[in-house]
Amino acid sequence: MEKLSDNTQTTFEDIRRNYLGICENIARSGREVRIMAVTKTVSFERINYALDLGVSLLGENRVQEYLDKRENYKPAEVHFIGGLQTNKVKYIIDKVSMIHSVDSMRLAEEINRRAAQHGIIMDILTEINIGEEQTKGGITADSAGEFCAEVDELPNIRLRGLMTIPPAGCSESVFAKMQELFEHLKVENAHNRENAMFDTLSMGMSGDYETAIKYGATIVRIGSGLFGYRKYL
Ligand SMILES: *Cc1c(COP(=O)(O)O)cnc(C)c1O
Repeated sequence: MEKLSDNTQTTFEDIRRNYLGICENIARSGREVRIMAVTKTVSFERINYALDLGVSLLGENRVQEYLDKRENYKPAEVHFIGGLQTNKVKYIIDKVSMIHSVDSMRLAEEINRRAAQHGIIMDILTEINIGEEQTKGGITADSAGEFCAEVDELPNIRLRGLMTIPPAGCSESVFAKMQELFEHLKVENAHNRENAMFDTLSMGMSGDYETAIKYGATIVRIGSGLFGYRKYL
């Protein structure tokens, strides 16, 4: 695993400027979108600075890195967004409020089991491999309906929506396809379950968040566009 870097080329002033720029772009879009600050390789000082600026949601994608850093964080809402091995669920189940990267029944069942042990209901998103890329995790758009319905049966899980990482540089039609899938499954989900709350589309990163917002993203996950390029030591 890469060691932590503190994105040392980026100053606090840069982070402030980046954050205000992102806020401005979102305001201009006129949509309700939540900014998630993606914190992999970023030092806790910089993370705390972002929280002071008004960021209210952090995204972690490495279990060990999160466990090492979290003691130093100011209070914040944290979602897990990275690939999650089944045997690591127990370490984060009570330390995050949503898991964005659910892409197998085995993982969903383990989250359900651990959530039950803690007496909680865990919010999750189904990760969709919208570009059907070999190198990426996620459920294909074609099997998403069946998968979501099955996940929804698990009593200690609440399916809140979908997450995706579109292929780099892909055309807008891929985002449009994702939006369509999201809207379709939202209707299905409302039929499947009382108190359904299928309201979250986690889509868009530093390079494509404005396109993602245009196609209905409700959470954009921003790392380098906020904290500067990650430097792996
Ligand atoms: C790293 C990461 C991001 C942020 O990527 P940037 O391009 O740096 O904004 C978003 N989502 C996931 C799942 C990531 O791992």
